[in-house]
Amino acid sequence: GRSRGVRPMFSTGLADRFFSSSASSSRKLDGKVAVITGAASGIGEATAKEFVRNGAKVIIADIQDDLGRAVAAELGADAASYTHCDVTVEKDIAAAVDLAVARHGRLDVVYSNAGIPGAAAPPTLAALDLDDYDRVMAVNARSMVACLKHAARVMSPRRAGCILCTASSTAVIGDLAAPAYCVSKAAVVGMVRSVARRLARDGVRVNAISPHAIPTPMALGIMSETFPAATAEEVRRMVTREMQELEGASLEVEDVARAAVFLASDEAKFVTGHNLVVDGGFTVGKDLLRNPPSST
Ligand code: NAD
Repeated sequence: GRSRGVRPMFSTGLADRFFSSSASSSRKLDGKVAVITGAASGIGEATAKEFVRNGAKVIIADIQDDLGRAVAAELGADAASYTHCDVTVEKDIAAAVDLAVARHGRLDVVYSNAGIPGAAAPPTLAALDLDDYDRVMAVNARSMVACLKHAARVMSPRRAGCILCTASSTAVIGDLAAPAYCVSKAAVVGMVRSVARRLARDGVRVNAISPHAIPTPMALGIMSETFPAATAEEVRRMVTREMQELEGASLEVEDVARAAVFLASDEAKFVTGHNLVVDGGFTVGKDLLRNPPSST
């Protein structure tokens, strides 16, 4: 980066603006405070790391205490702290939000990201397990309402803030995973759209991020449950290649983390009510003629 040494002795307003904007382009979240649910693993963990790299302080909220504490320890006590937070329990979410304010004096970002796949898709719709449906909806959808509620409780009075929710490519396609999971993710996008205008009046932005398949513990787990005969290597290949459209790149948790950094930063100051799809073109169409019938 540019060293402070080149700064002119008599700095002009222009030079000040130049230097401060070059600093903010490398640290896009300087001084911001974030709560991230599901940050002990996968997308949430990568986002916590990317947020801290960009100058933010984060509260890692999860139920995997050992993993969550390890992520926080790696990031350092000044930048990160772990709190046990079961997102199906409203008071846990309220407490995580309050912890951010108590520890850092402010709260700029709440990233509602924790989620579960639920049971593998049933062989028939008649075999759908409604207890599984309730559980998936509680963790993936109801939790997001609770995050929106408690983020707004703190942010609306301050007339500023940013709320992010992890949806999924399944929310766009519809039938791409087990029905309960797809419904829960469609609900996340619906929720963002149903509160964005209301929160816009408070100066608070709210956006969804929809990743496509990434080989996190969650995705690899549900795929091996769905295809029990497949080896671990075959399952990984399905997620990273066969389920993807974009050639020459593979979707990684860091890609989602960087999308979250953008949405949380002032660079996205006018972006609200949006669903940022990070899917390498998966949801916009299929190449039906990829394997055309041979003429012979
Ligand atoms: P992951 O399993 O690596 O991480 C999910 C985290 O959520 C875990 O640390 C887990 O402990 C936590 N969690 C689960 N239930 C919780 C609860 N009740 N309270 C608090 N924390 C809880 O999986 P991931 O792939 O990083 O998933 C993160 C989000 O991304 C989920 O919402 C998931 O649905 C979504 N998503 C994942 C993919 C993918 O292919 N990996 C694609 C699209 C969307």
